[in-house]
Amino acid sequence: VDHYLERISSDVHLNAFVDVYTDQAKQAACLVDEKIKNATAGRLAGLVVGLKDVLSHKGHGLQAGSQILNSYIAPYNATAVQRLLDEDAIVIGRQNCDEFAMGSSNENSSLGAVLNAADNSRVPGGSSGGSAVAVQAGLCHASIGSDTGGSVRQPAAFCGVVGLKPSYGRISRWGLIAYASSFDCVGPITKSVEDAALLLEIMAGADNFDSTVSSKEVPSYHKSLFDWKGKAKIGYIKETLDSESVAPEIRRNTLEVLDRLRAEGHEVEPVKMPLLNFLLPTYYILTTAEASSNLSRFDGVRYGHRSSEITDLESLYKNSRTEGFGDEVRKRILLGTYVLSANYYDAYYTKAQRVRRLVREEARRLFEQYDFFISPVTPSTAFKIGEKTEDPLQMYLADIFTVQANVIGNPAIAIPNGTDEEGLPIGLQIMAPYFEEEKMLKFANYLS
Ligand code: GLN
Repeated sequence: VDHYLERISSDVHLNAFVDVYTDQAKQAACLVDEKIKNATAGRLAGLVVGLKDVLSHKGHGLQAGSQILNSYIAPYNATAVQRLLDEDAIVIGRQNCDEFAMGSSNENSSLGAVLNAADNSRVPGGSSGGSAVAVQAGLCHASIGSDTGGSVRQPAAFCGVVGLKPSYGRISRWGLIAYASSFDCVGPITKSVEDAALLLEIMAGADNFDSTVSSKEVPSYHKSLFDWKGKAKIGYIKETLDSESVAPEIRRNTLEVLDRLRAEGHEVEPVKMPLLNFLLPTYYILTTAEASSNLSRFDGVRYGHRSSEITDLESLYKNSRTEGFGDEVRKRILLGTYVLSANYYDAYYTKAQRVRRLVREEARRLFEQYDFFISPVTPSTAFKIGEKTEDPLQMYLADIFTVQANVIGNPAIAIPNGTDEEGLPIGLQIMAPYFEEEKMLKFANYLS
């Protein structure tokens, strides 16, 4: 704990943490020490973790990077957090993120941008930017983030660390601030696949507080990690890899992995996914719709910020929300309200739901033939701070490879795959069939 506290204060310019629990972490460390002496310590004894500012941690601030929750204190622990604490992990602080997890660069945080530790003029990715940088820079052993369209995997790739998005429903969402409830997943960001496997194993599984979580048994992911045997059948999408929009170094490193796999006797084949171009529009229609509904609870009455310019109920709602939410969140609430409005509901929302179903069916069919899909995580390496803020479409394109797993609910993992000429990290994504985390983690470990 002392080591990490020192690291955090010497790298405070990175802005990865918005709150550091110095005294509590030290106290927790003493208690864990006692338990270790008495041989009663849990499986994560002494593991120092950071939490993205969207996970409820009792008695601590929780604001999703937003001013609308600036004075909010979490009254209970998220299930994922409780399970870490039950195994004696030590939470060292709360990590910066894009406001309500909406963003791909961490520039939408009302608590300031986060700097990539590989190059301080560049973004760390988002929305779990603080969580990825904290692991990259060694400010904590592991972080817990959330992934609605890539927010664990994309920053992990920009920072050269491992990011795991489990299947939808593998980890309880109880205590996770909702962005788009049918997409949201809790996921670990770690230095190794082994750490990701252990953390998943501990956080996953049935929970009475979340009816969408699966009661499927949780395998011991980390124990089976080293027994990858046999040959895998791997699909990749040639069109996207060939496209101009993918940086040449990323294409090169991805193709090198595919060549290596072929050389080791695995079957590697290009696949067609005709619906690929519909992924981003489907994602942004459905997530903004869900967000506009989820965020309606922040009305100045129950939580956080309340405007002082109030004359009636309407001005209470309007002014509190206008003052509390940042630009990107307001934009998405407007978009979501629009696609859900009576006149446009069928044209946008219903249509996007249909496309989501088709994309799922397409993926299910493909996964009958393939064990995994391999792709880059991002089309570029970490871009410059400010480079894409004026162009939202460019920003949304940063998620082109990651949103599919959330649209269909499948697990996917980002692992480091070398660097470009400037030393900026490149990631590789492995996506697996629904609830096949065990197989995916084994294979990721084999590839790492
Ligand atoms: N960048 C994507 C978005 O802005 C993904 C965010 C996420 O996964 N939370 O919606």
